[in-house]
Amino acid sequence: MEILKTLYDEVIGFLGIGNAWDILQTGDYSVLTTYEGITAFIVPLIPLLVLLEFILGLVYKKPDTKVYKVNFLIYVFNRFVGRFIAIAMVVLLIGWLQPYAPFQTSATWYWFIYGYIVWEFGHFLYHYWGHKVRLFWCLHSTHHAPENMNLSVTYAHFFLEAPYADTVRTTVCILAGLEPTMLFAIMFIDGTYGAFIHVGENMIKDARFGALGKFILTPSHHRVHHAKNPLYMDTNFCNLLNVWDHVFGTYQEEERKEKIRYGITRKMDSGNFMDVYFGEFAALAKDVWNAPGLKNKIAYIFMPPGWSHTGEHQTAKMVRKEYMEEQTV
Ligand SMILES: [Zn+2]
Ligand SMILES: [Zn+2]
Repeated sequence: MEILKTLYDEVIGFLGIGNAWDILQTGDYSVLTTYEGITAFIVPLIPLLVLLEFILGLVYKKPDTKVYKVNFLIYVFNRFVGRFIAIAMVVLLIGWLQPYAPFQTSATWYWFIYGYIVWEFGHFLYHYWGHKVRLFWCLHSTHHAPENMNLSVTYAHFFLEAPYADTVRTTVCILAGLEPTMLFAIMFIDGTYGAFIHVGENMIKDARFGALGKFILTPSHHRVHHAKNPLYMDTNFCNLLNVWDHVFGTYQEEERKEKIRYGITRKMDSGNFMDVYFGEFAALAKDVWNAPGLKNKIAYIFMPPGWSHTGEHQTAKMVRKEYMEEQTV
């Protein structure tokens, strides 16, 4: 019976419906005007959508079982480790760095806009390095392994990625003077939206969202980010506002003639938890081991994926550039 109770608590925990359920039972809806009240009903949105999308997949007979299976295993694994380290990092960093901020912002709407743009910059940095520094790519590649898109991809992360991401984002935000409550509010909005942009074709076929796509990052933009087509490689690093992709020249729209192929370029088994989770570490270890001299060994750790000591580089930047040149001739 103990096991059933634990399982029940885990399901309620995954769905995040505990707080909403309490509110429904008390019948006191006045709490809906509070932060806690609102989050109680927003938190369950993504898990419920994951379930709905999975059911739609079954209806269309395209449930992407392999992706769901591995992402579920990853969710279970991270559930017990990653989140706690990330929360501890955020709390520590706020304490350490706040005294060094040149000024402090307050909780007003204009500082909120400022805060969001700063947060997006932190997100851009963490995400860009996650693609351009081989060691960080080891942390991030788990998220890019799935070969089709659905909301369960939201849970596909190596357990140390959240601490790494939150370290970069929190450092940027706190040094830029963001107030911790504002930081947490932005984190929450961004986390929820960041989950939603993984909605798959089974639920929303065309996710360009018309003119809205000019101002915000749509699921279509994020599908492009998850693609291994040369044209799409290493583009769209932002999360909700794609301002920094425009600034740094990494913005790319989904082209109708270029059908998205999801996944990473390394030969791998996306249905194998060990390969999805540790495959890039194994590949890096092999390259470091085989590289001649200490300088080359260190270079493998910090240079972009695809860098080679022989000079025969196959980085995303080069592959994309070659492709663009082929297109113009
Ligand atoms: Zn990425
Ligand atoms: Zn993603």
